[in-house]
Order: sequence, then structure tokens, then C-alpha cells
Amino acid sequence: MALYHTYRPQCFSDMSGQDHIVQTLTSQIGRKQTAHAYLFSGPRGVGKTTAARLLAKALNCENRPGGASEPCNTCASCKDIRHGRSIDVVEIDAASHTGVDMVRQNIIETAQFKPARDAYKIFIIDEVHMLSTSAFNALLKIMEEPPTHVVFVLATTEAYKIPETVLSRCQRFHFSKIPYVDMEKTLKNILKKENRTIDKDVLNTIIQKSEGCLRDALSLLDQLLSTGDQALTKENTSLFLPAFHDETIQSLICSFVTCDRKAGLDAIATLSGEDMDMVDASDSLLAHFRYMLMALIDPKLKQADIHLDDHTKMVLQSLAEQITQKELVQLMDLIIRRKKEIRSSPTPQLQLELALVEWCEHHSAILPSTVLPQNETAPLPHPTKMTQNISSDDTPHSRTEKKILSRDVVEGEWGAILDTMEKMSPSLVFILKMAHLKEIDGNTIVCTVEYSFHKDKLMETSSKKMIEHFFSEALHVPVLINIQLAEQKQPEENNTLPQELQGLVSALGGEIL
Ligand SMILES: [Zn+2]
Repeated sequence: MALYHTYRPQCFSDMSGQDHIVQTLTSQIGRKQTAHAYLFSGPRGVGKTTAARLLAKALNCENRPGGASEPCNTCASCKDIRHGRSIDVVEIDAASHTGVDMVRQNIIETAQFKPARDAYKIFIIDEVHMLSTSAFNALLKIMEEPPTHVVFVLATTEAYKIPETVLSRCQRFHFSKIPYVDMEKTLKNILKKENRTIDKDVLNTIIQKSEGCLRDALSLLDQLLSTGDQALTKENTSLFLPAFHDETIQSLICSFVTCDRKAGLDAIATLSGEDMDMVDASDSLLAHFRYMLMALIDPKLKQADIHLDDHTKMVLQSLAEQITQKELVQLMDLIIRRKKEIRSSPTPQLQLELALVEWCEHHSAILPSTVLPQNETAPLPHPTKMTQNISSDDTPHSRTEKKILSRDVVEGEWGAILDTMEKMSPSLVFILKMAHLKEIDGNTIVCTVEYSFHKDKLMETSSKKMIEHFFSEALHVPVLINIQLAEQKQPEENNTLPQELQGLVSALGGEIL
């Protein structure tokens, strides 16, 4: 049986997300103040039908003590509703029964009779917006004067298609997309019960792909579990999981913010090479920029519909500090404008490339040259100018003034930062202690390491993000890290490596170049 059915919540406390709805409904049930008609609206796969069935179960449960709101799940009524065989709970799919005759036969006639066994006769009408006008009119008649034992639960993804007369008879609850954390919790619980493990990246991909629709997330997970592997890793799920472009999108965003044309064009080429639809790419960019805009206005803004993991949010927050609200709005406008042209463009990625170049053209003129990394034409910033903003935290709008790093500051804080990081990742710090600070280029700290496997390890996306996070936090400036390979050493030096390092080399399976 599909996960979505196996793990369908059997009590309100198991529902994922929708806390405000669960709270109101359970309180109404406990106080015996439920309404005669409810309208559950919201996107698909977020728990509307589940909540309707739970409401039906709680109302008809034979064992529910007064004041309680959860169904017992063991009485005959609870079991019958769970298995869809209760004669007092009628589920109708309005998408396949749109006509007035259906309403007359299945609803009006049935509603006249008292419930066969239970306390209430409950009608759950799914996709109710599909009903014909005459069917709605017939439904309205009985909703205007409902028999006391009747409860209607109407569910819809398109509430605006429902006549005002019907709406006004219902208590309305709007179901939102399931927030990232709730989705994560639910999926982890299921995996635990299924005795499977999952890589963080894979879990993150499932959650982001399903965009708040729990049903989609569970069907994606179903597919992955069907491979039979005990551990779901990036490798063994890559065939089933649609390609995910989060890292490339992030690097494209970074290119826009820092006006790095070359890196930006590279990122667009990568997306195009991985067959990402350019309209989807634009939408993804806009979603990320939108988060940055919210983060700039107020990081605490409620953003239940933004499905980004904490790590991505952290990266975006740090990028947001390098751009002003006004610039971000202009940038989003530009993307929206270019996105419209993608379908009619001979080369789909051209519009994004043009957007990037146009933006950099316009934006580098107003950006202080010091924040442009890798910009050969920009003169190197004056050393004293570079530090002047570091301690200017007293200005309330300091985030709009682009703060710049200096070598002195980085060197001064280096040891303390590594100490803080060491608890999180001793192996990274071990390598960083052997790295040399080469230069500060804008907001990029350039370090050299002697071994290519050290460089690879530090430049792995997750390591790089972690290092950047710790440095950004400590230096109060969004910091980027670039690790380069030091000039080749004389071969004999390899023989004089400290023993500790020799050990590490063999432990990591690397070789000394
Ligand atoms: Zn029961």
C-alpha cells in the first residue's frame, strides 16, 4: 500500500502542519460546538480530506469521553470510517459527479434519514468546486436548513469557484502548504518506521521538489523505497530523483549579487547542460530572490510557503546583506521581464544570459568596485578604506553599506574562528590550520593549501558553506572562501612531512602531489 495511505494520520495530533486548523477543530469538538458546514480550501495533498475524515471520526466515535477531541480508533465507527465503509459518512468526489441528480440522490435524500448507527450523518464532498450551478443550488437548499444530525465538509483547491451563497453557510479553513520543518519531521518518522536511512541531500531534494505537498513527497519517497536499498543515498537514488540544481542556482544568485559575469554564465551553461527548463530556472531564481527580499525586510517574517532548508536560507541571508531592497526589486523585475521571452527565444538560456549581462552592466556602475570579486579592471581597494566599515555596526542601515574585509581583521580573528569551528568539524579545522592566507579579494578570503585533496575537501559545497558561515558570523561580513593550490613544492619536501600529516594522508586515502 502507498505510504500516503499507510501513514495517513489517524488522529489530529499526527497531522503535519495546519496547526491553527487542528487547534480550532479539536477545541470545537471538545466543547461540542462544531458547525453544520465546513469548507476546507487549499492546495492539493496538504491534508484537507484527512482532516475531514478525522472530524467525522471524532464526531461519531463511540468511546470519545466528553471534552476529548481525538477519536479512539478502536470502536466500530472509527474502524468503519478508516476503511471507508461507514454508512453514516458519505464521501463524494464532485469531480466525477457534478450534476444536480447526484446531489438530490446522494445528499438530499440521504440526509432526511437519521444516521443508521452513529451520532451524525457526515457528507465529505471533495473537489466541490466542480459541481454544476444547479447542483450547487440544490446543495444550498439543504445547507440553509440542515437537519441537526447532518454535517457537511466541503473540500476544494479552488475556493473562488464556489458561489458566495454556499461560502456564507460554511465555516472556512484555509490549509497551507506544509512547511519545510513539518515535512522533514514527517518524512523522517516514516523512514524510521520503515527502518530506512536517508542522506540529508536526498531528503532535502524530496522536500524541495514537492513544494509543500505532502502527498507528492510521500509518492516520491515511495519510489525511492521501492529500490529496496536500506540507505537512500545520492548515488542509488539519482535515477529516480529528478536532477536537482540547487547548488548551481545558488551560485547563479551569487553571481548576480556580486556581478560576476563569468561565474554566472558558467552556472547558466551548467543548468542548460543538465536540461533544466529555463522557465523553471527563472522561477527558482525568483523564489530565492523573494526569500532574500523577505530576509532583508524582516528575517522573522512568516514564510510558510518557502521551501528552503536552513542551510540555503543561511546562505541566502548572507547574500541578501550584500544587496539593497531596491536593487533586489529591480533584479526580480528584470528576471520576470526576461522570463516572458524565454519560450519565444531561439536559444532558451539566452534570456537568462542577457539578464545577467544587463544586470552586471547596470549594477557594477553603482556597486563599489571593492565588492566585485575577480574583477580585473577594478583597482585594488585602498587598505585603510577596506577596514572602515568593519566596526560600523552602530549605523542602523549598515547592511546597505557594503562592508569590506581586511587582511589584519581576518588574521586577528583567524584563531578564534577556527576554535569555534573545531567543535563542529575538527577535520576541516585540521586542514585549515595548515592553510595559508594568501590574500583578501573584496569579500573573498583566498587561502592556499599544499595538497589537492585538501583543496577538494575544503571546496566541497557543504564544507565551503560551513567555513563561509563561520567566518561571516565572526567577521559580521558576508564572506566567501576560495581555496587554491599552493605553488608546487620541491619533491624532497614530501619526505619531511610531519608524521601526523602522513597519517592523515593515508587515512583520507589521498596521495601527495
Ligand atoms: Zn472511536
